[in-house]
Amino acid sequence: MKRSTGQDRSITRNWRSATRAVRGGTWRSEKGETSEALFLTSGYSYDDAATVAARFAGEAEGMTYSRLQNPTVEMLEERIALMEGAEACRVQATGMAAMTTALLCQLSAGDHIVSARAAFGSCRWIVDNLLPRFGIETTIVDARDNAAWEAAVKPNTRVFFFESPANPTMDIADLEFICALARAKGITTVVDNAFCTAALQRPLEWGADVVAYSATKLMEGQGRVLAGAVAGSEEFINDLLLPFQRNTGPNCSPFNAWVVHKGLETLELRAARQSENALKVGEFVEGRVAKILHPWLDSHPQQALAKKQMDNCGPIFSFEVDGGREKAFAVLDALQLIDISNNIGDARSLMCHPASTTHHNMGPDGRADMGVHEGMLRINVGLEDPLDLIEDLDQAFAKAGF
Ligand SMILES: *Cc1c(COP(=O)(O)O)cnc(C)c1O
Repeated sequence: MKRSTGQDRSITRNWRSATRAVRGGTWRSEKGETSEALFLTSGYSYDDAATVAARFAGEAEGMTYSRLQNPTVEMLEERIALMEGAEACRVQATGMAAMTTALLCQLSAGDHIVSARAAFGSCRWIVDNLLPRFGIETTIVDARDNAAWEAAVKPNTRVFFFESPANPTMDIADLEFICALARAKGITTVVDNAFCTAALQRPLEWGADVVAYSATKLMEGQGRVLAGAVAGSEEFINDLLLPFQRNTGPNCSPFNAWVVHKGLETLELRAARQSENALKVGEFVEGRVAKILHPWLDSHPQQALAKKQMDNCGPIFSFEVDGGREKAFAVLDALQLIDISNNIGDARSLMCHPASTTHHNMGPDGRADMGVHEGMLRINVGLEDPLDLIEDLDQAFAKAGF
């Protein structure tokens, strides 16, 4: 294996983002394959005993065991680091493995974390249920409220954790403000960037310390495998995350890493086209429903902030129909093209009812607090012709009585 021509960081750092997404981190075996090689191996063998001893002693480079290193996985880590503008990255088996690793690797009993109210259901479960079991204090804030972040800071606050836009309410958190506040107080910001990916929003450019991913979503982009990623400084990754990951083992399989490579090659194209389609579909939906939560529409109260920190709107938005769960289900059940599915970031258009699926576990009070109402539907707009999607929604709304 050797780095393919021009893979020195001094060169790849200067590549523009589309080039990084296709070429970043490529190593080639002596066979000279064009696509990334897939190393489905758990272990490695050695020419002699001294070689393996030197590797274990950290005196020689090289692979020893796939929980510690794998060439296919390392190529993906290098590519994601380049795309984020991060010094380093490690990938995990799922987005939730990434979130858990990014938080637990740096928190200890007696620490305090401030976390956003509107978040992916399992992220809220970690903050609300898991961290307190280990003596980590938590405060939940409305991520849109800059003053609330400021007021929540305590002497033992170690981490700010949030996503933007948030799932499924499309709340926008002010990255520049929140990250600057954290920096001033010595707090580490962990931003869950799954909705946007580096193609649409780069939190590190706004001062975030750590960006964490479900790579299952827009990054992979075709609904095939689960994966996660955490990117940040070399100090954070090497000193905090790596010892945790290498010993607890939330690793990404080489096969899944390879599939994510294939997704990244088309990420910019998909993100641009799906955003374009999501705006067209959103403009149609706005005229037919009680309320729409779409960051690129004038009706979104944080449109200006969204446009400041995001390059485009992304594929996902939510809306509310009158008539609660019954009418929301009626719309879903009438769909002929768009699938009923709780996944996002897929090239296929998918729609779900968050209150009964992704946010079911929060209970009615938690949902009311977060603004997840019974009439809310969330859509991931795919790569189909937007006119077909609009026609499908049009007939589904009509059947449901709208
Ligand atoms: C899906 C998702 C996760 C969890 O990722 P998995 O790959 O399903 O484990 C975390 N955060 C956000 C915002 C997500 O959309």
